[in-house]
Amino acid sequence: MARGAPSAPALDMSKFFSTNYHCLIPEPEAAPGAPPAAPELGPLLDRLERGQRALGAEAAVPMVVGPVTFALLARSSPLPPPEAVARLLPAYRRLLRELAQRRVPELQLHEPALATSQAAEPGVRDAFEAAYAELAKAGVPLNLVVPYADLDEQVYPWAVRLPVATLTLDFLGGGAGDCAGTGANRTLELITAHGFPHAERRLGAGVVDGRSVWADRDGTAASLLRALLHLGIPPSRLAVTSSVSLQHLPYDTALEGSHMPARLEGRLAFAVQKLDEIVAAAATPPNGGVAAAAGGQQAAAAEVDGSAAAAVAALRALGPAAYARSLPFGERRGLQLQTHAFPTTTIGSFPQTLEVRRLRQKLKAGTLSRAEYEAAVSGHIAHCVGIQEGLGIDVLVHGEAERTDMVEYFGEKLGGMWFSAAGWVQSYGSRCVRPPVIEGDIAWQGPMTTWEYKVAQSFTSRPVKGMLTGPVTILNWSFPRKDVSREAQAAQLAAALRAEVAALEAEGCRIIQVDEPALREGLPLKRCLWAPYLAWAVDAFRLATAVAAPGTQVVTHLCYSDFEDILPAIDAMDADVLTIENARSGDAMIKALVGSSYGRDVGPGVYDVHSPEVPSVEFIRSRIRMFMASGVAGGRADRVWVNPDCGLKTRGWAETLASLRNMVEAAAAERAAL
Ligand code: GLN
Ligand code: ZN
Repeated sequence: MARGAPSAPALDMSKFFSTNYHCLIPEPEAAPGAPPAAPELGPLLDRLERGQRALGAEAAVPMVVGPVTFALLARSSPLPPPEAVARLLPAYRRLLRELAQRRVPELQLHEPALATSQAAEPGVRDAFEAAYAELAKAGVPLNLVVPYADLDEQVYPWAVRLPVATLTLDFLGGGAGDCAGTGANRTLELITAHGFPHAERRLGAGVVDGRSVWADRDGTAASLLRALLHLGIPPSRLAVTSSVSLQHLPYDTALEGSHMPARLEGRLAFAVQKLDEIVAAAATPPNGGVAAAAGGQQAAAAEVDGSAAAAVAALRALGPAAYARSLPFGERRGLQLQTHAFPTTTIGSFPQTLEVRRLRQKLKAGTLSRAEYEAAVSGHIAHCVGIQEGLGIDVLVHGEAERTDMVEYFGEKLGGMWFSAAGWVQSYGSRCVRPPVIEGDIAWQGPMTTWEYKVAQSFTSRPVKGMLTGPVTILNWSFPRKDVSREAQAAQLAAALRAEVAALEAEGCRIIQVDEPALREGLPLKRCLWAPYLAWAVDAFRLATAVAAPGTQVVTHLCYSDFEDILPAIDAMDADVLTIENARSGDAMIKALVGSSYGRDVGPGVYDVHSPEVPSVEFIRSRIRMFMASGVAGGRADRVWVNPDCGLKTRGWAETLASLRNMVEAAAAERAAL
């Protein structure tokens, strides 16, 4: 299901709510009528037994995604929520039967869908009520966990009546809010206003921030607990926990050893430290401790770096001109690269082979000098450029051999970001990322990508794209600081990237790609908060790119499609070329683009890079014909780009060569057939 096969394309991949954790989109409609086959419970039960052996039967708690969230994650399910959920219930009942025999203290059912705007839509309440009434019968205490945001004002009153033993709420979740504009988490306010039925169910208080790497030095967790006690919830009916599961945090700050700079000592809390914070908060005396917390607040305030406000004011002073290209698309497009119908390109990275990764490791370990490293990377760039020329691709890339990760690479070169040595966070399956920690004002300290651009361009007379990661993606894939708004951090990143765009142009680069694959996952769970987020996100992209001369082509790349509902924002980014992941999205994006007034160049991916299958020439030709028939890019063949769905770094060379050869051949054949 993850990799696909010739007869069955791989499942869609998406990001899990507002996180960088990937998930596969279930397709329950694939077998209409029949309930989904009994799930394979073996691996889950094995893990539970291991946990029970290690911790004792009373302490090991199994967790699964709840049935309503599972049903709502399924793409284009033709069934309205109650029916879709009902079809999944037999599988959950089977799981509960197994767990009942294993003496688990509770089953955690994670239902982030309850914190989204969807929860207030018709049918969803019925689905929750019916599902939980049914599951409650199994005799296993249920802990319904709602991570990532607070509940909607309309949803809270019925959600707290769902028949579960414990309802765990997020008291900190970012990007939540009251839709009236404060954007702050309102869980405590909702409990204050509507009460909490603690006689019937326990409140799981998610008061330790599971999304932030910063330690709780101002005593937020303790103050929240004290407030709950003051509302009359007895300590015996309160469970203290993190706001979300700890899977989005690195493991343990102790693993950093001497790598941890003195200035951050004691200020960071990874998963292990969050557990300490949970235990410490649970020991909060109902009345005492207030003074300590207030003292803590002062200490935290002293940490605030006042320069951020100055930096943001300086950005504002740039004025609206800094956010707009000097000519509108209609006038500047003629000054940019002209090729032919169906120009071909790729999204940036080429296979990251073991050899490439070893080079970087050796440089880090000091067994390779900088000069030796650069010579070796130049060799990889030459190879990559030569291959693209040989294949006949029109716009080339340098291949990103020097980048471990598209955020880490920039984070290491920008001022204001710190990198842990061991702060890995799971992103998908066995893949992990090491997100940087933004610890101060972001500063551009000199060119970051001009060396690789120049090396690549020196080997070819074809145009080479400059390759940057956009400000919103760097922010969303980092741990932000807490003393400054995300908006201000995005603006600072944008100003730094703006300097980089100018540096690339100064070296003669005329096509600059600024990737924003994480634009969408930054969307708050509540729809009413989308507009303010998109406004500053788009501003950041524009600030970074508008410095480009009208003759410079600005390209952007967005992953995981699903952009139908934010198309006006994508339009407002004002990129000259939009390359998008399309293969696994059922062409939803093409339909949306065609139905909109979007009028610039488009490069919908012609094949899926997440699958090792090599697409045939005929398959790619049919994709190109479909794009042309749809009328995307105003039906102008010279503005319909032919490219893979995303970067090729996870693929091997053999399949990459075979796929790109077919891609170039397909574009040529369609060009000839015009
Ligand atoms: N330029 C990047 C690459 O090709 C883009 C990756 C992404 O969108 N996630 O690897
Ligand atoms: Zn991508």
